[in-house]
Amino acid sequence: MRATRAIIHLGNLAHNIQAIRGFVKPGVQICAAVKADAYGHGAVECSKRLLAEGVNVLAVATVGEGLELRKAGISCPILLLSLCAPEEIEEAVREDITPLVFDREYIGLFATAAGKLGKEGYSVHIAVDSGMGRIGCLPEDAGKIARMVANSRKLTIGGTCTHFALSDGTSQEAQEYTLLQYKNFLKAIDNIRNEGLDPGLRHCCASAASLTHAEMQLDMVRPGIILYGYYADEVDREYLYKLGTPLDLRPVMTLETEVSAIRHFSKGMSVGYGRTWIAEEDTDIAVLPVGYGDGLLRHWAACGLAVAIGGKTYPIRGRVCMDQCMVDLGSGSSVRRWDKAVIFGCKADGALKDADDIARATGTISYEITSCITRRVPRDFVE
Ligand SMILES: *Cc1c(COP(=O)(O)O)cnc(C)c1O
Repeated sequence: MRATRAIIHLGNLAHNIQAIRGFVKPGVQICAAVKADAYGHGAVECSKRLLAEGVNVLAVATVGEGLELRKAGISCPILLLSLCAPEEIEEAVREDITPLVFDREYIGLFATAAGKLGKEGYSVHIAVDSGMGRIGCLPEDAGKIARMVANSRKLTIGGTCTHFALSDGTSQEAQEYTLLQYKNFLKAIDNIRNEGLDPGLRHCCASAASLTHAEMQLDMVRPGIILYGYYADEVDREYLYKLGTPLDLRPVMTLETEVSAIRHFSKGMSVGYGRTWIAEEDTDIAVLPVGYGDGLLRHWAACGLAVAIGGKTYPIRGRVCMDQCMVDLGSGSSVRRWDKAVIFGCKADGALKDADDIARATGTISYEITSCITRRVPRDFVE
C-alpha cells in the first residue's frame, strides 16, 4: 500500500453510532448519510459496519453511489437525497433506490419506470422545502404532490421529509428559523393527511437537530458528519456538554504519509513552484509524497498548516504540489527518512490536528476536508 493512506477506524465509527443512538428515541429509525463515499471514508465498508450496528436506512446522493452499495450486496432501503438525470431513473428503480420527489414531471418519470419494470407500489419520499431553499415542494403544495403520487398508481408514499438550513447554529435566530421550518414541515404533513393520504416515514433531522431537538426526530433521523467523528458546526462538544447531553465523538479517519526524503537546504535556496518560500538560514526539508491530487489542498500551506512527525509539528513550506509537498524540519531534527507523518486524524495515530482544526484554519468545514481526500489515497480499514 502507498505510504499516503487514510486509516479508517471502523471501531470509532461503531463507537460514534452507539453514542448517537443514546440521543435517538426508541422506535425512531436511523438513516445514515453515506453519500460522497461516506464523506470520504469508504461507503461500502462504512455502510456494512453501520448496518451491523443497527442502522436501518442508508442515504446517498447519486444513483451510482446507490449501485455501488447494491453491488456490494447491501439490501437495506437506500434513499437518494439529490435528483438524478432522467436516463438514470430506470436503473434507480431496478435497484430499489428510493427517490425524493416533489413535482409532476419527476413523479411521472418514476411512475413510468416502475410500470415498465413491473414494480407497482414503488416507494418514493416527498421532499418539502420548508425553508432550506434547495429541493422540495412548498408546504402548501404537499397535499397536491402526495395526491399526484397516489394517483400515479405505480408509486406509494414511503415517506415525507425536509431539510434544515440552520440547525447547526446555536444563536437564537438560528433556533427560531429551525422551529419555523419544523412548523412548516408539520403543516405539509397535515396537508397530506387532509388529502386522506399517509405521509409514511416523516423525517427532518440531520446530525445537528438529531442531537438537539429530540421532539423533531419523528419517525427517522438522518445523521451524517457525526458518524465520522465530527460535530455539526456550532453544535459542538462544549455546546452539547452545556446542554447536559454530552457526546463523545471519535474521528474515524487519519490521513498519514511517510517522509520520502530529507534534503539539506542552505540559506537562499527556494522550495517548490513559484519560489514562494526561500530558506532564511540553513535547514532540513522533508519531502512528503502527498499533494492536492490526494486532497491536501494547494492553499493549505498559506494557512500555516503543519504536519505531525513523532509528536512534533513541522510547517509546510512553499506551495503544495499535485503529488508532493515539503515541510521544514529545521536543523538538527531527529526526524528520519521513512518516519510517519500525520496530516490529521486520531490522536492515537499520532495526529496533533483533526479535520475540524484543518477546516477552521483553511476556512471550510470538516465535511469538505474528509470528502476531498481523493480515490488515489488507499483506505486502510482497521478496527
Ligand atoms: C447530507 C445530508 C444529511 C446529513 O447531514 P449531516 O449534517 O452530515 O448530518 C441529511 N439530510 C440530507 C438531505 C442531506 O443532504
